[in-house]
Amino acid sequence: MMGPFCNEPMTDFSLADNRRLLETALDDIKKTYGQLYPLLIGGREIVPENMKHSINPARHGETLGVVAQADRKRAAESVDIAAAAFEHWKRVDPAARARTLYKAAALLRRRKHEFSAWLVAEAGKTWVEADGDTAEAIDFLEYYGREAERLCVPQPLVRIPGEDNEWTYVPLGVGIVIPPWNFPLAIMAGMTASAVVAGNTVVLKPASATPVVAARFVRLMHEAGLPEDVIQFVPGSGGEIGDVLIDHPLTRFVSFTGSMEVGLRIVERAARLQPGQRWIKRVIAELGGKDAIVVDRDADLAAASLGIVQSAFGYAGQKCSACSRAIIHADVYEEVTERVTALTKRLTIGDPALHGTDVGPVIDRAAYNKIRQYVTAGKQQGRLLTGGGMDDGAGYFVEPTIIADVDSQASLAQDEIFGPVLACIRADDFGHALAIANDTPYGLTGAVYSNRRERLELARDLFHVGNLYFNRKCTGALVGVHPFGGFNLSGTDSKAGGPDYLIQFMQGKVVSERM
Ligand code: NAD
Repeated sequence: MMGPFCNEPMTDFSLADNRRLLETALDDIKKTYGQLYPLLIGGREIVPENMKHSINPARHGETLGVVAQADRKRAAESVDIAAAAFEHWKRVDPAARARTLYKAAALLRRRKHEFSAWLVAEAGKTWVEADGDTAEAIDFLEYYGREAERLCVPQPLVRIPGEDNEWTYVPLGVGIVIPPWNFPLAIMAGMTASAVVAGNTVVLKPASATPVVAARFVRLMHEAGLPEDVIQFVPGSGGEIGDVLIDHPLTRFVSFTGSMEVGLRIVERAARLQPGQRWIKRVIAELGGKDAIVVDRDADLAAASLGIVQSAFGYAGQKCSACSRAIIHADVYEEVTERVTALTKRLTIGDPALHGTDVGPVIDRAAYNKIRQYVTAGKQQGRLLTGGGMDDGAGYFVEPTIIADVDSQASLAQDEIFGPVLACIRADDFGHALAIANDTPYGLTGAVYSNRRERLELARDLFHVGNLYFNRKCTGALVGVHPFGGFNLSGTDSKAGGPDYLIQFMQGKVVSERM
């Protein structure tokens, strides 16, 4: 039994020794650039004809790895093999499954900077963001290991004379795990490890932009002692193999994190009973956001402005929790927008491999083009305060962009852009600000800056989001501290990193024996 969970500390890069560790790791990983990453199905490496290059978004001429792409036949086969593996994995002692996660956490902790370096290269994360991603992955492994130990033992029941009753959680079966690219280690590892530690087997289809990080994590799990047929590593185009994986009659559940559009499609497909299917498929969906920070008239305006900038432009706005709307009380609107603009102009944009870069590239050309459309539209929908520049010469760089005086119904204020674009919206009063904040199809994160207790209490009641923060930024949820997941079309509120999460990958069985 392990001691109580505590969060992995962040690396202090103000110390030269720590800076050297990451610099060395960034150099070391270059020696393996271009390596081949096969499919891994039933522990067997498969190299199909179709391959795809994973590239560095900060230098799109640089290939990081050559990754096998599964076709529909391989995808179907991976579910069959996962179903066969389930028969032995479900019988493994849950405590032993948990120990595999603890071992993986220990290995990852030892190789922290190596994984962070891959996150810098493949996802374009700055040092601090990459370090946070790796720390969160360690946290998920440690946390879900303990959760399995807590839940996979008989649960408390009311006793009656003459009967012995036992309630235990048993695993579900084969899970399709489809993570996004924006937390290519933490979210991917959390989704995979939670399903596996609960006793399920998994087909992991990594995000197309970040398969190398995922492949390396799967290897790490094997080093930690996970049997090789428990996770099938099946990279490929979601559009091509997604339906095969979800429709397969042996698929028992789908754990998806990504956009609302793809998530809703999965929910719909998974609801259709397929020939031979013997259960109702479960879908755990964590989707997008259009997150807002509300600034009240008597808030600490310096703190609010800093919180907005950190939440809007950390990882170039590519977090589901990113602030993309600043909703500001009319009395302080000019001052806050000026402060936010001044802080934003100080950000350093550039190669995330360099210490001191604040904002790296966006993930790929499709994201770059999509963001460009919103920046162009935004200039029509409001007043450009800063940014608007873009450069895809070497990598996919977008300047942090702020558009003021945006109408709350404009596309800039309604659509998830997923880039460094902030819409500032003027509110007549605090109630109006909350109404605007709630007026999108999403409900993931939000923050309120106010120094008045009654306003915070009003927001506590009315601001309809899964993760609400007061007088702090709306990004940076910590495992165990801020269980994470959203309302409305932001998902099934699965609360990753919280005590309700693991149960979603299990079902409760009650056995009653007459004595
Ligand atoms: P995406 O929906 O484009 O892709 C997510 C995953 O789905 C990828 O692995 C992709 O290959 C796969 N996919 C694509 N089409 C598919 C299909 N037809 N069938 C099955 N799988 C398919 O999202 P993304 O661009 O990778 O990630 C960004 C999105 O994720 C944003 O909307 C963001 O808000 C959201 N997100 C949400 C959370 C959360 O906790 N709520 C966390 C991180 C990211």
